[in-house]
Amino acid sequence: MLWRLFTFALCQLVAGEIGWQFSTEPYRTAGLLVGVILGGLIWFVIDLWRGARMLAWLRGGDMSESALTVGLWGEVSDRTRRLVRSRERQTADSQNRLDDFLAALQASPNGVVLLDSNTRIEWFNQTASEHFGFDPDRDLLQHFGNLVRDPAFAAYFAQNDFNHAVVMPGRASTASRPVSLSVHLHPYGEGRSLLLSRDITAVEQAEAMRRDFVANVSHEIRTPLTVLSGFVETLQTLELNKTDRQRYLNLMAQQADRMQSLVKDLLTLSRIEGSRLPGLDERVGVSTLMRQVESDARALSELVCQQSDTAHKLIFQAAPNCELVGVASELLSAMTNLSGNAIRYTPAQGTVQIGCEVDQQGRLIFSVQDSGPGIAPEHIARLTERFYRVDRSRSRETGGTGLGLAIVKHVVQRHGAELKIESTPGVGSTFSIVFPANRVLLLRQPTPMLAVVQRAEEETRL
Ligand code: ADP
Repeated sequence: MLWRLFTFALCQLVAGEIGWQFSTEPYRTAGLLVGVILGGLIWFVIDLWRGARMLAWLRGGDMSESALTVGLWGEVSDRTRRLVRSRERQTADSQNRLDDFLAALQASPNGVVLLDSNTRIEWFNQTASEHFGFDPDRDLLQHFGNLVRDPAFAAYFAQNDFNHAVVMPGRASTASRPVSLSVHLHPYGEGRSLLLSRDITAVEQAEAMRRDFVANVSHEIRTPLTVLSGFVETLQTLELNKTDRQRYLNLMAQQADRMQSLVKDLLTLSRIEGSRLPGLDERVGVSTLMRQVESDARALSELVCQQSDTAHKLIFQAAPNCELVGVASELLSAMTNLSGNAIRYTPAQGTVQIGCEVDQQGRLIFSVQDSGPGIAPEHIARLTERFYRVDRSRSRETGGTGLGLAIVKHVVQRHGAELKIESTPGVGSTFSIVFPANRVLLLRQPTPMLAVVQRAEEETRL
């Protein structure tokens, strides 16, 4: 300010002096006055011009440099520039924080929707867009209730009680592939709301599977138990001759066997599900596995064909000289389940061929081919579900529990393998397990002595 007064006075002084010098007596005083006035005017015009430059700079100039450097306007310009720069930095910081925050919300596995006080959509993340079918270009600032018209959500919203979530179908939900969303509204601020959505389809399916499983197990156990208690009652109340008594006892033994098989399969399934994934340090000789599969298959075939005049034609291919990396007991369980099914479902005069080979990519393929009744295509995808049977009575007749292929599926998955099912009704079925090459170790032919020792070791492990 002092500088400003100083320049003003200086201008007047210089102009006054000039007026004084350029005038003659008796007009010197008048010349001085005119000079002082003109000096003030010039200062004022210059000041006005600097003010106008400052205004133009404020209106859209380059804020990285000051418009003026000296004087009051220079200081105003410098301070304004610093203030603007500091505000810009603050805005950039806030924007970065907002971007980070939105990126975090974007990364959330849950759907996030921000609603204003009129329940208009202010922002939503990609997951919410998938859950509700929102379009970022079209649906911002639309009323949430206009876009999501599910009756369950409408009732939830109308109740105005947001202590709990509501379950509603997702946008992609269809009759064949239902999608369930859990939607929870959290009010905050002045009438605003945060809406969170979570895909609970898998949780609901798991819960439904658990319920079905408990119901199935109860049913499977209750049936033989009812039959058993019926026979016990008959034996207790009726005077039976020796033959009838024996027949009843045989039937009771059959039911007890059935329950035993069921419990055995349930325990196998729960053991497989509960144990850690097979590591790469356990291995078993394929020939050892195949020998065990063969002896089990022959024994089962004899049992199944006991009552008939003919027998199965069983063909066993020579096992390749290799080892399989995995848990021996689980691998054997999967293989004998497949061979057992082929023998149980194939009529006595039919053929069952069991083999193992290493293909060109080094994968090991265990396959069981039968000339049984075959399976219609619509059943194939569901065969590995627990308790799924194509023909319930046939499965029971043959002593099936409905869990065999579920066990196979688990073992196969745990060993990174693949189960393939090919079947033609009336012709037969082929079930194959394809083990990846990294689980197959090809061996050189061992010396006869070493082979005997290895065989003995592996058989004790099985
Ligand atoms: P189960 O104990 O009933 O045999 P699985 O899980 O082993 O249960 O098999 C499921 C169903 O798949 C069986 O009930 C049967 O209908 C069908 N199945 C399995 N293997 C064969 C096969 N080799 N030939 C025909 N049907 C089969």
